[in-house]
Amino acid sequence: MAGGNAIRGSRVGAGPMGEDERGETAPRRQVRYYCGRGHVSAPYFALDAEVPESWDCTRCGLPASQEQENPPPMPRVEPYKSHLAYVKERRSDEDGAAILEEALAALRQRRRL
Ligand SMILES: [Zn+2]
Repeated sequence: MAGGNAIRGSRVGAGPMGEDERGETAPRRQVRYYCGRGHVSAPYFALDAEVPESWDCTRCGLPASQEQENPPPMPRVEPYKSHLAYVKERRSDEDGAAILEEALAALRQRRRL
């Protein structure tokens, strides 16, 4: 079932928590999460389930928190990626150099034999 349906729940006699659906075996509660872009995600959790502090926004995938006034910071994708790319690049360069060195050494040895 899709979350974030705010239209539901206005039925007369609907309880505050999970009473609006008959035949419900496990009681559930709806938890709202707010992402940095102002989206609201409202997944359902079983009452005895542990509710995570953050949730990935169902609309944009950003991390969302239960505090509307204090959503998690938007991850700065650009610098993180370029830094990671830089580290990866350097590492693979070093690895590549080591592998090349090994290959050359093996080649030289084979020639000597
Ligand atoms: Zn969002």
